[in-house]
Amino acid sequence: MRLNNTEKTLSGSLADIRARIGFAQGLSPLASPNVTLLGASKSQPAAVIEEAINSGVCDFGENRVQEAAEKWPALRTAHPQVRLHLIGALQSNKAQQAVDLFDVIQTVDRKNLVDALVVAMAKSGKRPECYIQVNTGHEPQKAGVLPSEAAELIRYCRQQNLPLTGLMCVPPEDDVPAPHFALLRSLAIANDISGLSMGMSGDFEEAIRMGATCVRVGRILFGER
Ligand SMILES: *Cc1c(COP(=O)(O)O)cnc(C)c1O
Repeated sequence: MRLNNTEKTLSGSLADIRARIGFAQGLSPLASPNVTLLGASKSQPAAVIEEAINSGVCDFGENRVQEAAEKWPALRTAHPQVRLHLIGALQSNKAQQAVDLFDVIQTVDRKNLVDALVVAMAKSGKRPECYIQVNTGHEPQKAGVLPSEAAELIRYCRQQNLPLTGLMCVPPEDDVPAPHFALLRSLAIANDISGLSMGMSGDFEEAIRMGATCVRVGRILFGER
């Protein structure tokens, strides 16, 4: 059931979003030629996710390890091409489960989690790509490393041989997002990191104009939760 637009099918919404992505890419010299559209599928039932897969969405993000463990093993067996990303906070004691379930872990934000992931990867032989989440808004309740501590955490990941490929942020809800995207971009450039996961339903075009390589959309693809 989609509540945002009673007329629109998921594949219609997807076509709109893809068109908007393409248009935003054309508007800025900073835009990446390759932008991954990630469907933020928290609280979406398997049947809706399946519809998105059949419409051509290849990347999905889940917020909770437990929810992903319930929904995704069957979906993955049926659709082995899909890439599953963790986009919610990860407790160290769930690192092994996360390594076993996800292709990309976007929310690495502290050294003890890096340690737990390194151990888990050694155990399973699986090496999901990792992104560091940066708390660009310095919000005390939010996950993510502070911008001033990002370089040190990046160094630590590399020293520990974690497969670090990107940075991710979730700007404060009532802030203008552009400065947060610009900050994340500058941290990526300064530290020689190519992946930039930023932008959600309300601001993904802005994020693309600032160089996003992955945008995470929930509501405008699936409808209101
Ligand atoms: C839910 C969620 C999204 C998608 O948000 P929408 O506003 O529904 O597009 C993106 N990123 C994270 C980390 C989320 O939790």
